[in-house]
Amino acid sequence: MYIAIVGSGPSGLYTAELLLKQYEDCHVHIFEELPVPFGLLRYGVAPDHLKIKSLDAYFDSILSHPNCEFIGNCSIGDDISMNQLKSHYDAVVIATGAQDSKRPAIPGSNLKGVFTASEIAAWYNGLPGATCPFDRTEYDSFLVVGCGNVSLDIIRVLGASYDQLKSVDIPSHVLDTLSNLVIKQFTVVGRRGPFQVTFTPKELRDLLESSYEFRYLDSDYVSYLSRFTLLGLTFSKRQELLAEIYNTFSNSTQRSNLKQQVNFTFFKSITQYFGESYLEGAEFQETQLKGGEDIEHIHYLDTKTSINCDACCLSIGYQPIQLAGLHYLPSGALNNANGQVLDHDNQVEDGVFVVGWSKRGAVGVIGSNRSCAKETVQSLTDYIKTRKCGTDNPLETLVNNNTVVFYNDWKELDRYEREMGVKLGKVREKLCSKKDMLNFLKKE
Ligand code: NAP
Repeated sequence: MYIAIVGSGPSGLYTAELLLKQYEDCHVHIFEELPVPFGLLRYGVAPDHLKIKSLDAYFDSILSHPNCEFIGNCSIGDDISMNQLKSHYDAVVIATGAQDSKRPAIPGSNLKGVFTASEIAAWYNGLPGATCPFDRTEYDSFLVVGCGNVSLDIIRVLGASYDQLKSVDIPSHVLDTLSNLVIKQFTVVGRRGPFQVTFTPKELRDLLESSYEFRYLDSDYVSYLSRFTLLGLTFSKRQELLAEIYNTFSNSTQRSNLKQQVNFTFFKSITQYFGESYLEGAEFQETQLKGGEDIEHIHYLDTKTSINCDACCLSIGYQPIQLAGLHYLPSGALNNANGQVLDHDNQVEDGVFVVGWSKRGAVGVIGSNRSCAKETVQSLTDYIKTRKCGTDNPLETLVNNNTVVFYNDWKELDRYEREMGVKLGKVREKLCSKKDMLNFLKKE
C-alpha cells in the first residue's frame, strides 16, 4: 500500500509514524515544497526554544524508516497535481499546516511600520523567501496586537540581546540585524481581558523573567480582578497562575533599573492604523465582557481610543494554506469528519484525509498533533479496509530525480548546517534560500 502525505511538519510526521507502526506493508511518501523537512518545527517554533527544536531528532528517526521517503522541493499543485496524487496513491493525507498570519482588512495596513507575526517569525527563523521586515533600527513604541504565545515569542526574540541569541538557532544575518535593533517599549493589546489571554502562564513568566520591566498601561487588571470577586466567580488554575504572575511583575519599582518595558492593555479591538506614509498610531474600539455566565464573551462598545506607536505587529493567529479544489471552512480549516475530507455538500472526498492545523485550525502545541494524527489514521484505516491496495511505486512515474530532494540529500544538508553551526558555537547555521540549498545538493 502507498500513502502520500503532503507536508513534512509535525502533523504529517506523526501520521507517518502511526501508519508505519500499524502496517508492515505500508510505504509512506512525504511530499514537501521546500527542500528541507519539519515545517513548523524548523520555521515556526521560536529559535531560542532549543528544547522543542531538538524534537527534530525524533522526527528524523521517522523519516529514516526504510518504508518512508521524503520528497522535498516538490510542490503539490505545481510539480504534481492533486489529481495525480489521488490516482497514484491508495490515500492522500493533507498536512500543509498554517503559515500565514490572519489578516483582516484593517484600514492603514499598508503603512510602513505595520507587520504581521508570520512575516517577522518567518524572517528570524530563516524561511526561504522571507526578508527582513524592518526598515528602521530603532522603534520607540512597538504594539503587538493579540495575546497568544506567538506574541510573546516575538517580543522575547526582538527584545533579546546579542548574548542571549548568539548560540540559538538563528541565522547569522538575522542575528546581525537583531543586535542593532532597539525597541524601547512593547505594548501587548488584548481584545478581551487579562484572564482571557491564550498565552500560557509559563511563557509569560519566561518572558518577564528574561529582562523586562513590566507594568500595566491602565487599571483594567485591578478593576477586572475585583469584578470576578464581586460576581462570586472563581478562577481556574490557569487564571490563578496568571494572577500570580501579574501581581509579581507589575511591581515595576523593583525592576526599574531595566531599560526595556513591556506593557499590557486590554479590552481594545483594533479598527485602523493611522499615519502619513509611516505608522503613527492605531485606533481601537473599546470592549467589555458580558456579565454573569457570559463573562468570557466580548461585547463591543461605541467608544474608541488611540495608542501612538511607530510599529505594530498583528499577531492574532495563523491561517491554513488552501490547496486548490478542496473545500475550506470560514475558520480556514478543511471541511472534514474525523480527518476524512468532505466536499461542499459534506460528501466524502474519496481517499483524501487531513491532519494538523489544516484540519483543526491553528491551535495547539506540537504534541497536540499526535492525538490529531491518531484520529485521522483511524479514519484512514476504516477506508483502507474496503479497498484493494496498489503495489506499484508511484515515485517511479511521478517525480524527477534531478530536482527532488530525497532523505539522503536532506541528511547531507543537515550535516553541513550542523558543521557550520559548530564553528559558530550553535546548533546549526541554516541555509536560508532554496537556491543555496539546491546548489549545495547539486540539484536543479
Ligand atoms: P492564539 O493562541 O490563537 O492567539 C491569538 C490571539 O489573538 C488571542 O489573544 C485572540 O483573542 C486574538 N485575536 C484573534 N482575533 C483577533 C482580532 N480580530 N482582533 C484582535 N485580537 C484577536 O494564536 P497564536 O499566538 O498565533 O498561537 C497559535 C498556536 O500555537 C496556539 O495554540 C499557541 O499556544 C501555539 N504556540 C505555542 C507556543 C509554545 O508552546 N511555546 C509558542 C507559539 C505558539 P481572543 O481569544 O479574544 O480570540
